[in-house]
Amino acid sequence: MMTQVFDSPEQLYRSLPSMDSLLAADASQSLKQQYGKGELKTAINQLLQQARRNIAEHNSLPSWLASSEMTFEYLAQHLQQQHQLSLRPVHNLTGTILHTNLGRSQQSEAAIEAVTQVMRYPTPLEFELQAGKRGHRDNAVSSLINRLTGAEACCVVNNNAAAVLLMLSSVCAGKEVIVSRGELVEIGGAFRIPDIMRQAGCTLVEVGATNRTHLRDYENAITENTGAIMKVHTSNYHIQGFTAAVDESTLGQLCRERGIPLISDLGSGALTDLRRFGLKQEPMPQQMLADGVDLVSFSGDKLLGGPQAGLIVGKQALIAKLQSHPLKRALRCDKLILAALEATLLHYLNPETLDSELPIMAKFARSQAELAEQAAHFVAQLTPVFAPKFQLQAVECQTQVGSGSQPDTHLPSVALAFSAQTGELSKLEQHFKAHSRPVIGRIANEQLLLDLRGADDFELLLQTLRELGASA
Ligand SMILES: *Cc1c(COP(=O)(O)O)cnc(C)c1O
Repeated sequence: MMTQVFDSPEQLYRSLPSMDSLLAADASQSLKQQYGKGELKTAINQLLQQARRNIAEHNSLPSWLASSEMTFEYLAQHLQQQHQLSLRPVHNLTGTILHTNLGRSQQSEAAIEAVTQVMRYPTPLEFELQAGKRGHRDNAVSSLINRLTGAEACCVVNNNAAAVLLMLSSVCAGKEVIVSRGELVEIGGAFRIPDIMRQAGCTLVEVGATNRTHLRDYENAITENTGAIMKVHTSNYHIQGFTAAVDESTLGQLCRERGIPLISDLGSGALTDLRRFGLKQEPMPQQMLADGVDLVSFSGDKLLGGPQAGLIVGKQALIAKLQSHPLKRALRCDKLILAALEATLLHYLNPETLDSELPIMAKFARSQAELAEQAAHFVAQLTPVFAPKFQLQAVECQTQVGSGSQPDTHLPSVALAFSAQTGELSKLEQHFKAHSRPVIGRIANEQLLLDLRGADDFELLLQTLRELGASA
């Protein structure tokens, strides 16, 4: 950094290469080809400004101006960084499998292949091949979802928040919707049940108390203006102690007697029993429908393991209202999503291979013993690379499902735990995140923890950590 420290600033400024000489250099030609002349000029400008700042502040030229090779290497690096995709793969070792900020569910190879095909070629999105007439874009998914859940019909939108908005807007606008006080959920962001009601033009009628709601509370609240009774799955919290809620089959009976629809926001929903992983059973749409719920909504990218989507399943007549509502046009899914969703749902027809085909199931299925074995290997390989500044050990930890699902259930897991002197740990965390394939962990108890349950490729992760250790 301190090259030519004896020169005066004027001499240093004069020694800077000119824009024209840099642009004309042989080494610039391939960069010009790759990034375009405009981008190359912008980058050169930025670097020259950086150099001028360096002179002003340190009375020296930056080290990358020491030779022409170093200058062009630095320029190439700068351009590469500027053009690197921000949505690139990371190692999610946070201990949260369905991490909303890291894109929730990872998808199966079949889903990836399906998306690639519809990106590359035309596809009969709204076209019935046999009849040769216009079809409906939700059809590809509908027949599968109906088979899997026993629904009469289905409607697919952008996410579950959209699904709830569409259900309420289409079925209950201008009417009262009865909800238990214990279920007035905030999902995060601006999604709160009372706000979504208002947005849909419904009047929220709260019944019961926060901890207890009874059948008579619902009964007493029904008027001639009732549009629906709504159940909301309290996915991201759990009320314990002196509690009571009315189950769907009891409410289903009440609603049938009174001729009002029963609708349910399931949140995650799951099409498969999760108890085999040591998780709790998440309420399943097929069970809800069997219990007499008329419309059930759930997410595509939570425990289903597919793309971001909102699925609404239920009675044909009500789904038809949703499909013909103007909001549906605004909330409909793109062909990429529908292709991924169809491929994901197909896996559910073969439960024997589900846990190996769907990445989130594969991650749930990992045993702690298997992870401990991996961790021991990592510690042995990496300790010499990170020593003496950082110490490394394998520790037991707990993995969360994430996305607000099952907040009080955890899977026993194993983490690589890095420790160091105070201050060094957060620097290490930053260093891990600055890699071209960022490694994202979490700091707890003065350790940087990398929960191995979230790893996608142990070999690649080891390689990434070796590089990071060598440059830490
Ligand atoms: C997650 C969740 C939503 C929102 O679903 P998105 O797919 O994220 O839009 C709505 N309701 C409940 C109960 C949820 O758990």
